[in-house]
Amino acid sequence: MPVSDLMTKIVSLCKRRGFIFPSSEIYGGLSGCWDYGPLGVELKRNLKDAWWKAIVHHRDDVLGLDSSILMQSNVWKASGHANNFSDPFVKCKICGKHFRLDKVWDEMGKSAWVNSLIKEMTGEKDTSFLLGWAKKQGKSLAPNLALVKEPEVTLSWITDLNQSWGGPDLNFQQFIGRMGADTNGKARVPCPQCGEPLPEEGIAANLMLKTSLGPVEETAEKVYLRPETAQGIFVNFRNVIDATSRKLPFGIAQIGKSFRNEITPGNFTFRTREFEQMEIEYFAKPNEAENFYKSWINGRLQWYLDLGIKKENLRLRPHSSDELAHYAKGCTDIEYQFPFGWSELEGIANRADYDLKQHAQFSGQDLQYQDPVTNEKYYPYVIEPSGGVDRAILAFIVNAYHEEEVNGETRVVLKLSKELAPRKIALLPLLKKNADIVALAKNIKSDLQKTWMTVYDDSAAIGKLYRRQDEVGTFYCITVDVDSLSDKQVTVRDRDTMKQDRVSVDQLKKYLTRLL
Ligand SMILES: [Zn+2]
Repeated sequence: MPVSDLMTKIVSLCKRRGFIFPSSEIYGGLSGCWDYGPLGVELKRNLKDAWWKAIVHHRDDVLGLDSSILMQSNVWKASGHANNFSDPFVKCKICGKHFRLDKVWDEMGKSAWVNSLIKEMTGEKDTSFLLGWAKKQGKSLAPNLALVKEPEVTLSWITDLNQSWGGPDLNFQQFIGRMGADTNGKARVPCPQCGEPLPEEGIAANLMLKTSLGPVEETAEKVYLRPETAQGIFVNFRNVIDATSRKLPFGIAQIGKSFRNEITPGNFTFRTREFEQMEIEYFAKPNEAENFYKSWINGRLQWYLDLGIKKENLRLRPHSSDELAHYAKGCTDIEYQFPFGWSELEGIANRADYDLKQHAQFSGQDLQYQDPVTNEKYYPYVIEPSGGVDRAILAFIVNAYHEEEVNGETRVVLKLSKELAPRKIALLPLLKKNADIVALAKNIKSDLQKTWMTVYDDSAAIGKLYRRQDEVGTFYCITVDVDSLSDKQVTVRDRDTMKQDRVSVDQLKKYLTRLL
């Protein structure tokens, strides 16, 4: 299936079935913000529960925390966000679209005019197709591109391109740059939207969202909505140690909302301005940090695998030294192969002792750890696994989406894991006009819903009811038919295999407990 089709289908399914809606949609929406519908909120809670259980409940060395979104401004001075938290961007002076400087070429790959132009490429050592494109598709897709505005002049600059045309050394960026060349023939990066040459210098903009604390505008204190949950953990390091007498190594985990004024939100819920994070700060002796860094990378990767992400769509990407913050000893991203390309799900960083030292310096408080046995005092190193809830949800939905041929028809089925599936069971009566069948189905539903997320649906014929449940990932459909009234048995259908089992009503709970 073409990549863009898959994303379109997923966005449509999410809206149609109540997983994810655009924010403020009746007013035309709000860029970079999304709402989770009735099924989306269940999936999100299941995902966060799975993380919390794995990180906090099933381990002895990690404690939970829930710090506030609004924090004192000095926190962001100490963390560096007040001064350095920016992504330089460029703005097209004709169409007004913003592009992150480091993402321009990603956008280029998705650009309508670039893709149209590439489609026309014949591999011949001939530029006549460029002229043809400029006079046809180019006019509507990239009206401000040099090649479209001045085709003959632009083509006269690129005679040397002729030499390498079709050869293995053809460079995509150089080629596109030539198409947008300025009047002196100098290659320029053209706007992915309209073709106008983009400014060569980026503008820096702080990505933190501001608000004011206090009802009176003039005296209100300016504060930021946190851009990450991590700092709430660092500023509580001393509180947690004092309250729990924890010894190293130990971690503090938090799930919560964060906010960033992203320049180009996009790819559905992948890059948004309001999002939720799952972060751990794991404090360790400096000489043990490297080992914990490695074990957290493996542990976090395994978590995604355990919840059903296909191995071939996950990879680890260690950061190169020029990507690392000056204080960091290492950072590795867990990436997922989304329909729009490999993208970060979670980052695991060895941040050394930077954060606690910064907060000690800015707050004047002693944030060193004192070893209770040796009395030695030092700043612990910090390993930080930091994942995005919304990104993970998108990855799990993409991973679960399947189209299968069944009896000549296409069945859409969301193969979410048992932990994540928003609905576990659906009760479907075969005859909704038979009061005894309906009563039995509703009775079974009431009983099962105390343990599992269970629904009752009689609003369509059975084939349609199955399709509806498959599409949202319901694990088991239970049908009640006329025979059920006499033999006290119901049919349980497995979502993935579509295998059906006849199970007696009084054994049903036992049967499902074994499976779910
Ligand atoms: Zn433009």
